[in-house]
Amino acid sequence: MDIEKVFYVGRQFGSYQAWQEIFEDYNKKNNQVFTIWDCHLLNESSNIDQSIIDTFKYSYVKFKCKFGPSRGSQATQRQTSTCKMNCPSYFLISLKNFRYFEITGLHLEHKYHEESKLVRLHLVVLFRTVQCRFYECIPEVNKLTKEEEIMIGKMLKLNADKKQVQVMIQKELRKIVPLKKLHNINSQVNSGNNDLEAVVQLLRDSYRADVHIYKDNETSTCKGIFFSTEEMRSDFKKWPEIVFLDGTYKLTNNDMTLMIFLVEDGTGRGEVAGLAFLSTEERDVLEWMLNTFKKLNLTVSLKFIKYFDTNWHNIREDWCMYSVLKNSLGNTTNNRLESVNGKIKQVIKKNSSMTIAIKNFFIWYASHKTTNLLRTAGQFLKKPNLQFDPDDAEKKYIETLSQYASAKSK
Ligand SMILES: [Zn+2]
Repeated sequence: MDIEKVFYVGRQFGSYQAWQEIFEDYNKKNNQVFTIWDCHLLNESSNIDQSIIDTFKYSYVKFKCKFGPSRGSQATQRQTSTCKMNCPSYFLISLKNFRYFEITGLHLEHKYHEESKLVRLHLVVLFRTVQCRFYECIPEVNKLTKEEEIMIGKMLKLNADKKQVQVMIQKELRKIVPLKKLHNINSQVNSGNNDLEAVVQLLRDSYRADVHIYKDNETSTCKGIFFSTEEMRSDFKKWPEIVFLDGTYKLTNNDMTLMIFLVEDGTGRGEVAGLAFLSTEERDVLEWMLNTFKKLNLTVSLKFIKYFDTNWHNIREDWCMYSVLKNSLGNTTNNRLESVNGKIKQVIKKNSSMTIAIKNFFIWYASHKTTNLLRTAGQFLKKPNLQFDPDDAEKKYIETLSQYASAKSK
């Protein structure tokens, strides 16, 4: 394709898009990068038909080679590096009679940046050597589309390794993207926030949770957020005998401790009965949390209050310490709590924002519930094949209780 036959003064284009398609295609094939140097947008207030504005967007646009002259005065510029090399190549298109664009000026010849065309890099991508020109490392050439950014964002959200994603992008999308760009995409999709309103809205709208907030009387800063879902409260009703409670530190980037209320279900697994984020573990905050839990689960509150008074109230000054929990409840129960906490920690990364921590918690919760459902269903769908007399006592236990409970009752 001869450039002078494609681009000449007087050539017309029916729309900005028509110009753009030919211009971009040509630039790609010829390893050139032009940026908009100057332009004038069609003004919506100046009695121009909206259809004309949509079709043409500009009254004129001047494109200059990326390696063209630099803007601004040289005097204020320090020794920063620049890709400006005073290449004279440019294109000027102007809207004529509101009917078409016309090339009204151009300089086709590039100068002073022969290096951009050099074939210099040999990158090994998955055992294939790929020849790259420096031209192919120019950011404009590697600009990701909106769809590509969304797709990459999804991969990074699933904790994909950035270097592997970088290689994948080069192989599949044929684009060279710096790790810094991937880092930026990652923080966009994974930043979330700690804004109290956003946290409460997320819990209520996305997870239909019941949310309670404890604020400091004087400063009205948030000291605690307690939340539970219908399913969690229902699990507590089913298995209210004993409640385990433990805190996990450093999960959120605002130093809130995640407290988890757990009960033990019929298969011996931990079930979440409620959660709280606490800013401190001072007495008033802990009391607020426990009272909130009590109020929400009123049907068994007497039992719970009694349990709480006997086991926790008299050592309330320090019971949230992990070591105390370990000693007062013994190893078996501690292990169960520890395993649930450990599993949650695998899903919620340290120093997450509150909203991301909550989203990840519910991802874990959904998976945990599914696993429990499958496990319980398995017990109903399969019966142990044991030989008993018709009125054997053990047989009745086995038929009435879950496998876990009947094993305990032996
Ligand atoms: Zn140039």
